[in-house]
Amino acid sequence: MRIDLHTHSDRSDGTTSPAELVRHAVERRMDVLAITDHDTTAGWAQATEAALEAGLTLVRGLEVSCKLAGHGVHLLAYLPDPTYEPLAHELERILDGRNARLPATLDKLRDIGIDIEESDVRRIAGDAAAMGRPHVADALVDLGVVEHRGQAFDSYLGSRGPAYVHRYAAPLEAMIGVVAEAGGVSVIAHPWAKRHNFDALDEEGLAALKDLGLSGIEVDHQDHDARTRDTLRGIARNLDLVVTGSSDFHGDGKVDHDIGCNLTDPEEYARLVELARDAARVAGRSTPEVLAP
Ligand SMILES: [Zn+2]
Ligand SMILES: [Zn+2]
Repeated sequence: MRIDLHTHSDRSDGTTSPAELVRHAVERRMDVLAITDHDTTAGWAQATEAALEAGLTLVRGLEVSCKLAGHGVHLLAYLPDPTYEPLAHELERILDGRNARLPATLDKLRDIGIDIEESDVRRIAGDAAAMGRPHVADALVDLGVVEHRGQAFDSYLGSRGPAYVHRYAAPLEAMIGVVAEAGGVSVIAHPWAKRHNFDALDEEGLAALKDLGLSGIEVDHQDHDARTRDTLRGIARNLDLVVTGSSDFHGDGKVDHDIGCNLTDPEEYARLVELARDAARVAGRSTPEVLAP
């Protein structure tokens, strides 16, 4: 069984439509795919239709922009009821913050002599639910300012870059609770990736989050080297957290992240789905099921 639980479409900052994402997963011989756009469920309907047609098992999820102790943390939320008011409200707040951030980012870029307009970014962003830094990065590539997205973040858009603008992110601890109340399960995405805060996400920190309802951690991710993966796997075992492995596919938006480059063990996947069933039962909400052909 080939299972990939973390991918993006152009409804956030990927470059393929949700339907193309599903078809690409089929080409890559995937059995289970999760669509997890940033802070939006806007791709769910199209991905659902394509998955039913292609006979692919689809897990509907999203990747929520959170913060913990002042640092950004990405939280993968699987199978929550997206109409649960507190969840919808937080997602709206995050997306509003991201849209407000764009003009400020462009002002800062122009301040340092880079000639870029909102229309340059809009052309790149297409159907995205919100225009974010990856779209600005792609526009900078398009304008020939940098060679690739990573360089745009390193030189300009990252948290230490001259064009960085702070924006709203949901408090992580509260968001874990909200996802549970919405009948879903939470997994911390790439907890020890470079740009994130791994001090607050050490074993003690993760234990505290587990007490709040965290179900798992993404261990096998391209931003984790072999040693990091081993350490995180050990922590997950100690804390009885589900271990996931995924590509974090973004289409052409991220190199070396093709669908299926990391996989989730079928037993771990089964545990996660079981936990989601429990959460849905406790929440008593109408949550999306895993869509199996
Ligand atoms: Zn992420
Ligand atoms: Zn992601």
